Amino acid sequence: MRVVGSSERQKQATMFENVSNLAELAIQAVYPNVCALCGAATPTAQRALTRRNLPIRALVCTECLERIVAPTNTFCYRCGAVVKPGNYTGKCQPSCAQNFAFDRVCPMNFYRGLIRAVILRLKHEHDPLLANVVANIYFAARKRSLEAFQPDCVVAVPMNWRRKLLRGGVNAPETIAKELARKLGVPNMSSFVRRARATAPQTAVEWSNRAVNVEGAFKIRRSIFGRAVLAPFDCKRVVLVDDAITTGATVNEIARLLRENGAQAVFVAALARAGLGGIHNN
Ligand SMILES: [Zn+2]
Ligand SMILES: [Zn+2]
Repeated sequence: MRVVGSSERQKQATMFENVSNLAELAIQAVYPNVCALCGAATPTAQRALTRRNLPIRALVCTECLERIVAPTNTFCYRCGAVVKPGNYTGKCQPSCAQNFAFDRVCPMNFYRGLIRAVILRLKHEHDPLLANVVANIYFAARKRSLEAFQPDCVVAVPMNWRRKLLRGGVNAPETIAKELARKLGVPNMSSFVRRARATAPQTAVEWSNRAVNVEGAFKIRRSIFGRAVLAPFDCKRVVLVDDAITTGATVNEIARLLRENGAQAVFVAALARAGLGGIHNN
């Protein structure tokens, strides 16, 4: 074994220090030590060295985290409707959601305030980093529900390719699905669901017509990169990602399609639940 002289050892130590300082600087430049949502400084001590292991509190300050996440028991377990405080029995009403193709909707918050601002920014700006941050917040906030569901894969509500092209190829739910899949350690199967036709944005359609607007709007891909895949969702437990849901018509249509194609269960991971009423008339 070669004996390293004390001066040499010191030189090596300084070198390593410089390297780690450089790495630290590079990380600082890409992921500054500020809250991704409000720009307030976040404590350095809570920041891990690699992006992969960044704890959620390093990405977002405590205040924003509290504002952006509502407790799980604010929402109906089955349809995601807002439940009156102190009244929580799991469901918004005993007969909730007999007709839904999905098994549960798990929103992170109501569509208002900070989450609304974030969703609008994701819709109008192509910001994959923000989508990634939001995915991490969702995962941290709903980890228990997601893991209890025991998912096999994650799928995003797809965007029409023309609309996606206009947005620089970024569809926030797809970015979120990819990150959630990575966190859950299951495949992201978003590319297996595609839009079969362009639809009017649901926000531009009367509530009562929204189910019709998306009827038959989605298809399952039978081949990926030229390779045939016979039954991609057979027996799969699917996490379906969307940003804001109002009537639930879109996620219900995709859940129906997934079930038709053999999916065993569908968990709707929604950033926000808009509209305070139930979605029982679909
Ligand atoms: Zn903040
Ligand atoms: Zn309900």
